Amino acid sequence: MSFDPASFRAQFPIFAAPTPGPALHYLDSGASAQTPRHVIEAFAHHDATARANVKRGVHRLAEAATEAYETARLAAARYLNAPSPREIVFTGGTTGAINLVASSFGALMAKGDEVLLSVLEHHSNIVPWQLLQARRGIVLKVIPATVDGRLDLDRLDGLVGPRTRLVAVTHCSNVTGALTDLGRVVAAAAAVGAKVLVDGAQRAPHGPVDVQALGVDFYAFSGHKAFGPNGIGVLWGRAPLLDAMPPFMGGGEMISHVSFAGSSWAPIPNKFEAGTPPIAPAVGLGTALDWLAGLDWSAILAHELRLTGRILDGVARLPGSRILGPAGLQQRLGVVSFALDGLHPHDVCQLVDATHGVALRGGHHCAQPLMESCGLVGTVRASLAPYNDDGDIDALLDGLAAAVRQLRA
Ligand code: PMP
Repeated sequence: MSFDPASFRAQFPIFAAPTPGPALHYLDSGASAQTPRHVIEAFAHHDATARANVKRGVHRLAEAATEAYETARLAAARYLNAPSPREIVFTGGTTGAINLVASSFGALMAKGDEVLLSVLEHHSNIVPWQLLQARRGIVLKVIPATVDGRLDLDRLDGLVGPRTRLVAVTHCSNVTGALTDLGRVVAAAAAVGAKVLVDGAQRAPHGPVDVQALGVDFYAFSGHKAFGPNGIGVLWGRAPLLDAMPPFMGGGEMISHVSFAGSSWAPIPNKFEAGTPPIAPAVGLGTALDWLAGLDWSAILAHELRLTGRILDGVARLPGSRILGPAGLQQRLGVVSFALDGLHPHDVCQLVDATHGVALRGGHHCAQPLMESCGLVGTVRASLAPYNDDGDIDALLDGLAAAVRQLRA
């Protein structure tokens, strides 16, 4: 297999869409990736040919819709190498998946039980645990970051203990791009009998994941960052854990029997999928995941890291720049955050968009604890996908140099 960035890029209609101003250089895939034509078509084709509710009807459209939805679940199971599709729960996204675990796995926790997070977490892997803390009196502990923006795993042994029930950490930081050495996290958690939840929002879009090889217990990611539709996400959890957890939401399709004397729950995964799920989005996501699974990821990662290296070098040359995260290319993905002395990230992003058509993200990236620990209110972030090319990086570096000149003039 090999990888040709130009033909990959040609699969994405957004890059041919008319746009006011300069041509689009999309470097915000960490927020939402663009979606290829065939995924958009699969999504639309489902609604055009098999739109009906799932799991309940007996007419042919309902059966076709149910089959398409369950086929998407199989695709998600394959993508994560989950032992069984029963372990795949469709959610609204990573946020929905983590809230589900915080609520339902959290319901099994007692006052004084501990959840270990890291300072690199996105708010969606912090706030659900704070809500649980308020409800159940659990204790939150935090793994600090190293100076190069990784989890400081040397601190793990001192942070886990007999009351640790869960270690919930990111697979890849949405700010620093650092990949987490999950082997060390799993070993430390196993030593005290704790489970491990992984926020895979930034990692899952960069190639298939093997949850069995990782040895983790829960894995969450979002469809819209993985080249799929909005409004769909995946939670994988080990069947015995999901079986033991109470439902998250109540409603249709998650029950076995309902009476006013009491109700009982459907087996997993339906127990966690109350109400009508996002059906066409699931079909689109399944299509995206099968397509991602067939790509040559060693070639793609080499391409993305070469571009990442260009960004790191170019940003380091800007006067007054500070990169948050690993300075090198080891154990990282193509997410680069940086501060520019005296300049607000929003001003930089707006100017670079207006003058050079470069879409960046500026702000705290839903990681305020990390920003505070670095003494910053926010950063500028460039995040890559395989459709990016040298032209995007040229536009970024030219745009940043021009913005710095103009804003500091
Ligand atoms: N975790 C990480 C690391 C993220 O980057 C994001 C999205 N910015 C999320 C969680 C939340 O994802 P979503 O908004 O799709 O639920």
